[in-house]
Amino acid sequence: MSATIDRHAHHQPTEVVTRFAPSPTGYLHLGGARTALFNWLYARHHGGRFLLRIEDTDRARSTQPAIDAILGGLRWLGIDWDGDAVFQFARADRHAEVAHQMVATGHAYRCYMTADEIAAQRAAAQAAKTPLRIRSPWRDADPATAPADAPFVVRLKAPRDGATTIEDRVQGSVTVQNAELDDLILLRSDGTPTYMLAVVVDDHDMGVTHVIRGDDHLNNAFRQLPIYRANGWPEPIYAHIPLIHGTDGAKLSKRHGAVGIEAYRDELGILPEAFDNYLLRLGWGHGDDEIISRDQATEWFDLGGVGKSPSRFDLKKLENLNGHYIRAADDARLAALIAPIGGYDDIDLLTRAMPVLKARAANLNELSEGARFLFAQRPLDLDQAASDLLAGDAPTLLAALHAALDAVQQWDQEATEAAVRQVAEARGVKLGQVAQPLRAALTGRKTSPGIFDVLALLGKEESLGRIADRMAV
Ligand code: GLU
Repeated sequence: MSATIDRHAHHQPTEVVTRFAPSPTGYLHLGGARTALFNWLYARHHGGRFLLRIEDTDRARSTQPAIDAILGGLRWLGIDWDGDAVFQFARADRHAEVAHQMVATGHAYRCYMTADEIAAQRAAAQAAKTPLRIRSPWRDADPATAPADAPFVVRLKAPRDGATTIEDRVQGSVTVQNAELDDLILLRSDGTPTYMLAVVVDDHDMGVTHVIRGDDHLNNAFRQLPIYRANGWPEPIYAHIPLIHGTDGAKLSKRHGAVGIEAYRDELGILPEAFDNYLLRLGWGHGDDEIISRDQATEWFDLGGVGKSPSRFDLKKLENLNGHYIRAADDARLAALIAPIGGYDDIDLLTRAMPVLKARAANLNELSEGARFLFAQRPLDLDQAASDLLAGDAPTLLAALHAALDAVQQWDQEATEAAVRQVAEARGVKLGQVAQPLRAALTGRKTSPGIFDVLALLGKEESLGRIADRMAV
């Protein structure tokens, strides 16, 4: 019997810890929101923890408004994190401490290469048309020969022989020859840690077991793994998810519409649950299921369901889902959401109207527009189609409708419908021919909820007033 020894440590599969690690240099964008959601779902599915780390080490480009937008965007999407957010810049001393330890254990070294020496290697690489891989003479030099007081960077003593293979949960097995990597810098000459070092130290200290992120970071994983190994730290499981493309197949950019998620909330009138469902389906699938609740997603989510090819962002699909979630949403909640959009003040009326209003809206702006007739002041502004419907003998018809509706005692759907039908029959026309001018008079539009719903919502007095404004006297 022979035992095989895995020379790399792995996390014991006891608790899953994932994280979202945005750089606060811009708003939370679609790709970031999806990465956060996948990490959240993976952790919740496994009963683990989901952590948030703000990677604010780029001091010039990291801003407080961007941090606020990211936190606000996550909260809007219902993505909560365990514990307090970790701020990377505040941990710079710890990162430096690890680098110094690595020097002490021989896994990193002080490199005193001058700018001229680096320029010479760059020129040689260019002449040979090979990628630049810094080969520092200090890697194997006796530290005693180091120049006193000269500036230095700390470089990782990366493995040069063999290959590194990552068993990525999405990309599969990916191998890079170690000779292709160079001794990356861990600490700059001013003593500040590099991004590559900070990410690894933070992920280790935070106990992250699964690194789920965009596949633009796959190359970084090959530079980060040696840092884990040098320190004898358990390695995370990697899952690099394909990026999001536009409908034309090109990488998603401003050209394809909004990339920041706040635009979907504030300008496009998307509900968070619709956005979540859409993000989930963007790159992850469970059979043919399209409408997937958060609970269902938590139960089903796994990395095996993440596709290997880039997914395409499709606003039409998002709006279809949004329409579904609007119809499923609570009426009082929808009323509160559209009141500020339309400048409406009667939440009760909006709530009462919501069952009929929400039947056709694809977003909150449409929903708000659909409610406008409820708050319109007499005499109503008419759009062109409504004006056309009110031409000809419509005023005479409206006078007949006014008389019939005025006689209605109990203002309910049954009674108003009977009155309107009676007018249509008396004139020998179909109900629709009566309903259209009536709709135009009541709403100022050609389309609206059902006409008897409109009469009920406006009430007898307001309905008769609007009809009187347009009828022949
Ligand atoms: N801060 C990086 C970014 O915003 C993510 C780093 C990581 O996930 O390892 O793209």
